[in-house]
Amino acid sequence: MEVSARLKAIPPYVFAEIDKKRQAAVARGVDVINLGIGDPDQPTPPHIVEAMHKAIDNPVNHHYPPFGGTKEFKTAASAWVKKRFGVDVDPDTEVTTLIGSKEGLHNTIMAYIDKGDINIIPDPAYPVYRTSTLLAGGEPYFMPLTPANHFIPDLDAIPDAVLKKAKLLMLNYPGNPTGAHCDLAFMQKAVDFCKKHGILLVHDLAYSEMTYDGYVAPSILQVPGAKDIAIELHSLSKSYNMTGWRIGFAIGNAEAIKNIAKIKSNVDTDIFKAIQMAGVAAFEGPTDHIEHCNALYKERRDLAVERLNQLGWKVEPIKSTFYMWIPVPTGMSSADFAGLMLDKAGIVVPPGTAYGPHGEGFVRMSLCVDKKRLAEAFDRMAQHSIRFDMAKAKV
Ligand SMILES: *Cc1c(COP(=O)(O)O)cnc(C)c1O
Repeated sequence: MEVSARLKAIPPYVFAEIDKKRQAAVARGVDVINLGIGDPDQPTPPHIVEAMHKAIDNPVNHHYPPFGGTKEFKTAASAWVKKRFGVDVDPDTEVTTLIGSKEGLHNTIMAYIDKGDINIIPDPAYPVYRTSTLLAGGEPYFMPLTPANHFIPDLDAIPDAVLKKAKLLMLNYPGNPTGAHCDLAFMQKAVDFCKKHGILLVHDLAYSEMTYDGYVAPSILQVPGAKDIAIELHSLSKSYNMTGWRIGFAIGNAEAIKNIAKIKSNVDTDIFKAIQMAGVAAFEGPTDHIEHCNALYKERRDLAVERLNQLGWKVEPIKSTFYMWIPVPTGMSSADFAGLMLDKAGIVVPPGTAYGPHGEGFVRMSLCVDKKRLAEAFDRMAQHSIRFDMAKAKV
């Protein structure tokens, strides 16, 4: 049976492809070190698991959940947003649950992008921005993120012809895959820009709590008047070690929230109520696990910076996320280098091109394995002379 044009328009999901290569190496008997995944290695905090245990025993929770989330979840999410960012959102009109922000990104795009519409997205970025735009029949326009612009896009460089067809502009700070962060001044600029051009601004804030060295990530809703034009997607996946639970939420512009909820009510039937109760426990419970995990990631980051620099790189410590965006040796493509890392050293790193055309020349290294395993990855690189200056050394 012929598949839809929609399905033909998108490439296979990159991480599924990378995982196939990893599995093939494992099948060959290689002890693979996976620095390719963005999934916290620490468990979900016990008070959250405990809340789920309790909620699952209550038959009230066994029925269909209400569309857009339970009152308890939306109220607790709003209170968390207020406490964390000092921002007021109305739980009834300015909040909706998401089955993770991946789903939220997709349904936001489905709510706004038609054939011929443009979605302005960062490049490199989380692949869903691009693929969901293609699934909707729309066209992605890439804003290049490079070391020269500190991975902050130049909004003024977007051509007028693109702005005329654009319905959405997506941002993600702290950012995957670059680990970059931004300040509130840039967010203010983005809000002003989107207001001027009548574009819905979508901020993906999946890494709000994963920050180091005193950096605190802002919410776009801290910009006065941002709610006129912006929504923000939050996820419990990375902050609360809850990737498998599938829970997040969107806040901001009431009209946009209503539109996303309308799509969702026709496609899914929300999140199991017991999981929403676990989410409430996450918002209201102790936060020491966040400090604990950030201390672990920071230790790994410092180790990675030190060891990479010994191998000829000049990388700076990231202040957010658990990703390091590393240039590949001169004369090699991202795919060449990722291939070499797997074949020679048994290390999985996704090629930068998995995140967009401007990912060429980079690989992403994630810090989701313990320090010992991470150190072994660098030992193996040293052993196989995988260095930043290796191409020059060969000449
Ligand atoms: C992990 C990630 C997501 C997806 O998070 P879920 O809530 O688990 O769906 C969304 N955006 C970015 C940038 C991510 O890295």
